[in-house]
Amino acid sequence: MRQFQFSYKGKDALIRELRKLMQWSRTKIYSQMVFQVFSDVIDREEIEKVMDIITWEMPEALVFGCSTNGHILNGDVCTQAIAITCTVFEYPTSRVQLLQYDLTAENESYVTSDVLRILNENPWVTAIELLVTIRGMSMTNFSDQLSEAQRDIAIYGGGAFNGDMNNDTACVFTNIYGYADRGVIFVLMGGEDLHVSTTYITGWKPLGRELEITKVKGSILYEIEGRPAYDTYYRYLNIENDENFFSNTLEFPFIFDHNGIQLLRAPTASLENGALMMTSDMCEGDMARISYGDPETILREVADGVKTLNRFAPEVIKLYSCGARRVFWGADVSRETTPFQLLAPTSGFFTSGEFLRTKGHLNQHNVTLVVGALREGDIPEVKDTPELAEVGMEFSGQVSMVNRLATFIQAATEELEAANRQLGQAAISDGMTRLYNRMEIQRRINERVNQVNDAGAEGKAAGNIGKVSLVMMDVDDFKKVNDTYGHKEGDQVLIQLATMLKRVIDRKAPGCVAGRWGGEEFMVLLPGIDVNKAAEVAEVFRTEFNRIEFELCGHQTMSLGVTEHKVGESADTFTMRVDDALYKAKRSGKNCVVTE
Ligand code: GH3
Ligand code: MG
Ligand code: MG
Repeated sequence: MRQFQFSYKGKDALIRELRKLMQWSRTKIYSQMVFQVFSDVIDREEIEKVMDIITWEMPEALVFGCSTNGHILNGDVCTQAIAITCTVFEYPTSRVQLLQYDLTAENESYVTSDVLRILNENPWVTAIELLVTIRGMSMTNFSDQLSEAQRDIAIYGGGAFNGDMNNDTACVFTNIYGYADRGVIFVLMGGEDLHVSTTYITGWKPLGRELEITKVKGSILYEIEGRPAYDTYYRYLNIENDENFFSNTLEFPFIFDHNGIQLLRAPTASLENGALMMTSDMCEGDMARISYGDPETILREVADGVKTLNRFAPEVIKLYSCGARRVFWGADVSRETTPFQLLAPTSGFFTSGEFLRTKGHLNQHNVTLVVGALREGDIPEVKDTPELAEVGMEFSGQVSMVNRLATFIQAATEELEAANRQLGQAAISDGMTRLYNRMEIQRRINERVNQVNDAGAEGKAAGNIGKVSLVMMDVDDFKKVNDTYGHKEGDQVLIQLATMLKRVIDRKAPGCVAGRWGGEEFMVLLPGIDVNKAAEVAEVFRTEFNRIEFELCGHQTMSLGVTEHKVGESADTFTMRVDDALYKAKRSGKNCVVTE
């Protein structure tokens, strides 16, 4: 596989470049020549003229492309309006096929099912390069449906964009189906000698605390933690809801886990009601944080990516980098693209969304750099990773200042979150025994009883699921322990009783919870367990407790009451009955289990 890359000024220069290529190709044997056109102008006539010229000079060649927010040529940002790559597939087994569809929310299911049908009929396909005009459309269904493709097919690509970031007009085109301002192109590639490797790089790091997404509809994010989503940006970053909102928030996307990987989502606009238009869908219940780009992390990830990719021995590398990354880096954006050129000819463009299939699932990314690499034939020989001297890691001045402040915020947030978790734990547990306190075990009993009552008799008849039992216990003659051996010894009895309860529950009754009901009284809630099983568990508690040998007071006993909930009865009636059973156990000589 070979690739030629060029940009040009004027029609004659284009023809000259093409003739050079033709000259070269005359003496060569190859299976397919594929041109990709990157254009940061969306002028239909201009683009059609380019495709016509290429097709005129090279009638056999395939041509495809899209509008961009700037393109990457030889690993570097290209300043010409149009850039072109010509990829030559040299192996006779290699195949390339272009598909193109108009794409709207109405016909997306037709498009994806047609592509899946074609993939079924063409088992040679190993990789799909995807170019699509997103233009505010939710790509979630589209991506989910394409995820049904045979698992070993790599899918990667990007959203067509506009030279002007604030303009979402875009186009895709091929020399087979023409120009489309709402469309999608699938470049099917494959054959037994074609190999593909993909990866992605973000380098964006979470900042501040986790926020719950509470109201969302597709790509409109209404509320975060029950408040207008925009408030988050104002509160934490002091970003005003004005005409600069888009460029101010671009570098601070939300970061969250989805389909088992981390995704970024940036707002594209803030609406009057405080809702945010996002670059693509989020889901209610997602836990997100604001994130920031860290140049050091980015370059480290790039260096790692290049190192890994080197083992694949790529012959051609394609980069789909978010337009936001270009804004973030400014004039330095090539720092994250040029290292790939050390491995193979690297081209690509700045996108309105990046696509990559990971773990079987096609995800739409934002603010991400997606990398697709191709090779024909076996890996020739493992070369050393090229010197990444250019990937200088040293930063000083403002960048390192921002980095240090962000690290400070993150560390402080983590400390606060840990402290909050501890406070939450302390609020529901008993300090001495580490079991739940009275309030929490009571709350859990109420909650369970309400669930069972709501499910009604049906739930109960369905089996043990709807059943729930209680075991209540009280140490016998505990006053004597305190009086004879002191309070400390008494405490030891309670602590070891609690440890025993936890151990027996873990082994014999997982899912049950124990709490300290009062001084030397304990309550165990047994969800899904009937009275007979509960009595067995209670008997184990009794014997295991009696087996413990305390340092001063030797062996002790306790009495236990057991009961099962009756459909419809209140939590109070339920607990009063177990208390009654315990009282009967005391009356009948202690050290026993009474079931009621
Ligand atoms: P019975 O067999 O009827 O249950 O007799 P008892 O002596 O165990 O019952 P009683 O309710 O008369 O006494 C309970 C004692 O438990 C009284 C109280 O001082 C003691 N106690 C309550 N909480 C604690 C504690 O946290 N530590 C210690 N050491 N003693 C406690
Ligand atoms: Mg007692
Ligand atoms: Mg008592």
